[in-house]
Amino acid sequence: MQSTPAPRPAPSRRDLLTGVGLAAAAPLLLGVTARSAPPDRPAHPPVPAGRAVLLRGAALVLTLDPALGAGPLGLLENADVLMRNATIAAVGTGLQAPPDTSVVDASGKLVMPGFVDTHTHLWQAAIRGGCTDGDLFDWLERCTAPRRERLTPAAVHSFVRLAALDAVQSGVTTLVDWVDIFAYDLVESYVRALAGTGVRFTYAMFPPEPGATLVAKVKKELVDPVPLGSFQVATHAARAVKDLNRAHWEAAQDLGVMLNSHVLERSDQRADDPIGVLADIGALGPRLLINHAIHLTDDEIAAVADHDARAAHCPLSNMRLASGVMRLSEFRRRGVKVGLGLDGGTNDSSDFHALMKTAIGLQRARATDAGVFPQVHDVLRMATLGGAEALGMADRVGSLTPGKRADVVVIDPAALNFAPRFDWIGQIVFNGRPENIDSVFVDGRALKFGGRLVDIDTNRVVREAEAAAARLRVAG
Ligand SMILES: [Zn+2]
Repeated sequence: MQSTPAPRPAPSRRDLLTGVGLAAAAPLLLGVTARSAPPDRPAHPPVPAGRAVLLRGAALVLTLDPALGAGPLGLLENADVLMRNATIAAVGTGLQAPPDTSVVDASGKLVMPGFVDTHTHLWQAAIRGGCTDGDLFDWLERCTAPRRERLTPAAVHSFVRLAALDAVQSGVTTLVDWVDIFAYDLVESYVRALAGTGVRFTYAMFPPEPGATLVAKVKKELVDPVPLGSFQVATHAARAVKDLNRAHWEAAQDLGVMLNSHVLERSDQRADDPIGVLADIGALGPRLLINHAIHLTDDEIAAVADHDARAAHCPLSNMRLASGVMRLSEFRRRGVKVGLGLDGGTNDSSDFHALMKTAIGLQRARATDAGVFPQVHDVLRMATLGGAEALGMADRVGSLTPGKRADVVVIDPAALNFAPRFDWIGQIVFNGRPENIDSVFVDGRALKFGGRLVDIDTNRVVREAEAAAARLRVAG
């Protein structure tokens, strides 16, 4: 257990982007830099809505667009990133700041697209660190199901807000949440919590019964009004519930959204034949996202590839639940679009650096070969543009290509766990931690700045989650 640091007021939006450079804000990063924090911030006028932001002079920019820079990650040294009208307006060296632009000093920092979490269950923050001696089914039975049954709207809001903000502070700018919570008031609370964080999200709803009425209502009334929200229909593909799977697929088609299914997370789910079921109902295609996808045969991987279905790889969760290791090289060889997923409560935190490191490590441990896929640049791509491709969102997010949404993270390498510079690309994956994420922008709006969440009382978020967890324990 760590002691709680003395509370500090969160930076307000009016403090930001008005000339307070990242260099000045850097000492706020847990005190790990050599500079000391100023006692008080100077007063600044409010930031006008839609104000442009220029990140000036970043030591290294990973554009993830090979057309913009060197190598597969599109690297630029000493470069600027201009965000305007919620999009990437320009990337390059010596950019001019248009009038009314907030110029942020990014010298010494690394800039890259935000992480794309292709699979999570945020409400499961309620059971972090729980049932650690159990496999998937044991964990579901002992930790997940009993809590889910007792959730209230207030509890849902507390847990989802906590976990979503943890994701944001870790550099996640887009996430897909697979949710099997049905009551309308709970769903309403869930979506409200997501919307309140400013993260870009996809609500993947598992409907308990056939028929598109409920999902259509949730999409139309709750998700569609949120500018950063999108919708998917979730399912569990299995022979025993093939008719329900078909109904879910039809609902997804009616709504024009993707179907999102857990698939072969365990070897003893072989009899469920989920790939066969998804093929039978006609869902195998680019509008299908399969999660985990660990125990597929060669023929099943070939079918996924041939139909351009997409996959979410969740190595931390798979490792924790003793589920197995996805055959990532085979998916890669056949050209399947694969993103990374934290997978909610079985990941226990939102550490995307740990996720990338584990994605590399599990494959190397399995193959006893350091040359096996993925390498460092591969996981950085999977964590950003690859995830966006898997979700069919690569036209909007995943790289710093001008015209895309301005979902950007700034990493400060001036930290005890990160410095000195040797190979920053490798250091992002192998040394990086959430506290190295200095700033996070979604649609050009700063959600984290100078190492701290903006306009968020973190202590209050934690207190509310603790209170909700205590009530769940009493109710149990
Ligand atoms: Zn899952």
